[in-house]
Amino acid sequence: MPNNCSFCGERARFKCPLCSRLVCSTHYDPSRGLCIGCVEALCELCNGSLSIARCIYCGRLGCDRCLVQLDNVRRACRECIKVRVLRIEEARRGLERLREVTLRHFKHA
Ligand SMILES: [Zn+2]
Ligand SMILES: [Zn+2]
Ligand SMILES: [Zn+2]
Ligand SMILES: [Zn+2]
Repeated sequence: MPNNCSFCGERARFKCPLCSRLVCSTHYDPSRGLCIGCVEALCELCNGSLSIARCIYCGRLGCDRCLVQLDNVRRACRECIKVRVLRIEEARRGLERLREVTLRHFKHA
């Protein structure tokens, strides 16, 4: 019966609840209760699921619940999307104001 650590082959003492790999104490993170592989691959946004990709804006790892698919290859986290949508709104309003000022300036000139 194989009960060796999936990472180093030492005698395993824990079983990761997320990936169900057997791991030794050096490859187990007791504070999270997960194996090292899962800790590294964990979603940095909710810390509850395995990540599937990185946010193209902030570069954080995210799971399929925390990331929104933008197109075939790009994904962004909900936080960045919210911030960016706000920024785009602000930028558009700023541009409109600039155009108004420029138009007024040219009329007077
Ligand atoms: Zn190990
Ligand atoms: Zn694991
Ligand atoms: Zn997540
Ligand atoms: Zn992000």
